Amino acid sequence: MQRLCDMCEKKFGQKSDLFRHKKTIHERRKDYSCDKCKKKFGQKSYLHVHLKTVHEGQRDYACKKCEKKFGIKANLLTHLKTVHKKSQRLRMRPVSEEIRTEIEFAQTPKDSSQMSQRL
Ligand SMILES: [Zn+2]
Ligand SMILES: [Zn+2]
Ligand SMILES: [Zn+2]
Repeated sequence: MQRLCDMCEKKFGQKSDLFRHKKTIHERRKDYSCDKCKKKFGQKSYLHVHLKTVHEGQRDYACKKCEKKFGIKANLLTHLKTVHKKSQRLRMRPVSEEIRTEIEFAQTPKDSSQMSQRL
């Protein structure tokens, strides 16, 4: 069942998503502030990622193709898509399939031996 935001007509699958959307987009509440640089965030998870990547320099997500590292998975996925996509042999597959493959890459960084056998 879909829930509609009464302020912008955006649709959400879950009540909690709508609630979070209204809170962050329309009320512009930013309850979580970084005590190191005073930046504010609407969600605790954003603050967490900010702390890890900006202040602790954490880079958990490494690209298997060029060893570049990223603090958040989304950046790695974007990197894969923009930098390495052209050389991929998955051209014939539908886009969703390709994205799923990239996510698997991102989630199993130490699985390279199995991966190459399967390919
Ligand atoms: Zn809205
Ligand atoms: Zn900060
Ligand atoms: Zn790369």
